[in-house]
Amino acid sequence: MDTRRTHRSRAAACGAALLLVAACAGSGSSQHTQQATTAAAVAVPRLDPAATAPLLARLDAALPAERLIEWRRHLHQHPELSNHEVETAKFVAARLREMGLEPKTGIARHGVTALIRGGKPGKTVALRADMDALPVTEEVDLPFRSTATATFEGKTVGVMHACGHDAHTAMLLAAAQALMAVRAELPGDVLLIFQPAEESVPESERPAGAEAMVLAGVLDQPKVSAIFGLHVMAGTRTGRIGWRRGPMMAAADRFEIIVEGRQTHGSKPWHGVDPIVVGSQIVTALQTIVSRQIDIVREPAVVTVGQFESGVRNNIIPERSRLVGTIRTFADDMQSDIHERIRRIAEETAAASGAKAHVTIERGYPVTANDAPLVDQMVPTLERLAGADTFETRKVTGAEDFSFYARRIPAMFIFLGITPEAKLTTADSNHSPRFEIDESALPMGARALAHLAVDWLAGEQARATPPAH
Ligand SMILES: [Zn+2]
Ligand SMILES: [Zn+2]
Repeated sequence: MDTRRTHRSRAAACGAALLLVAACAGSGSSQHTQQATTAAAVAVPRLDPAATAPLLARLDAALPAERLIEWRRHLHQHPELSNHEVETAKFVAARLREMGLEPKTGIARHGVTALIRGGKPGKTVALRADMDALPVTEEVDLPFRSTATATFEGKTVGVMHACGHDAHTAMLLAAAQALMAVRAELPGDVLLIFQPAEESVPESERPAGAEAMVLAGVLDQPKVSAIFGLHVMAGTRTGRIGWRRGPMMAAADRFEIIVEGRQTHGSKPWHGVDPIVVGSQIVTALQTIVSRQIDIVREPAVVTVGQFESGVRNNIIPERSRLVGTIRTFADDMQSDIHERIRRIAEETAAASGAKAHVTIERGYPVTANDAPLVDQMVPTLERLAGADTFETRKVTGAEDFSFYARRIPAMFIFLGITPEAKLTTADSNHSPRFEIDESALPMGARALAHLAVDWLAGEQARATPPAH
């Protein structure tokens, strides 16, 4: 869980010239009201829309809508697997140089960053996109479909941008170009982060992706004060923007249980210890963690056994069985608690039958928790952009390595709908070989990134400047 729940004042783009935070409730939810009440009576100067409107209008006018689509198609046609984003990184760096930026490359293998220096002094805000593709063979019939292949875990596989990271990269490039057009007026700097390896990599390649970018110091030099990221979401209508306070995407951990029994003839089970029966008991007992043992009213959780392997033929009781699974949680303490329960259940269930269970749990991505005050501050920006198409999203049991930035500094991750109305019920999800993006959503995504950065910088500037009396 994110523990950085300081009650920072809000400088939202709504209300009168001087407002009480409680009076600026965008959604009116009880959590929001509670938040506002705690920070009660903190008068903050509002962000004057008249002051930023001309800048944002120029920014929108400078958004390279056509190139955005060209870039996305190019990247889609040339996908690269996690930690192999060589050509993608070159492409990104080349576009940034064309814009007059000086990108840094080779960060955490293939990461690229660039700093847009504002014409006025201020803080630094970061925008993040991920660049990697998946070992999926594309089945969508597009003129720019991917026919790329690569070697993955010893096998030749198709490679496809089946999670939409091609769109993320193109949208951040477009946002960069738009921001460059208003650079002289920006009260602070915008750090662009193009990271590799968001999709998980083998343990031997870790740390990777966002974790490695953070370790490489991308949030430290210059010191970044807030970060925004975006993910395209199949099954959500084109152009809708989802946001959420606090935990938004799950922590994902992998567990492996080796059950050691004693091999014997299948006709005489009393001469051995059957690891298949014990493994089955463990699978069943693990179901009680979520159904009987944890406080599911507080946060949901998932424990899934996805692999169960054992044995070679019908009349041999084997020596061991192997169970592999995933754990999804939304709070750090519940995560550790569930790990303990998995260990205890596996070990003691095995012991009850005279078998032994060896449990290993690998922590994957932490929970992606948005900073609640930051979300409250920025929702008006999203509402100004997407109006009624802005919504408070439910939690997602998928995981995101954006969480590594969010654990260091105030962060906000948003979802962008990319499915046309007519396909809402039939659209294939992210990671499917039939995953599709309605490109008409992409300018909205690029604008959302750029507007969040501008409004955040303007908000910090307003915060630093006491209101005139
Ligand atoms: Zn993905
Ligand atoms: Zn993704």
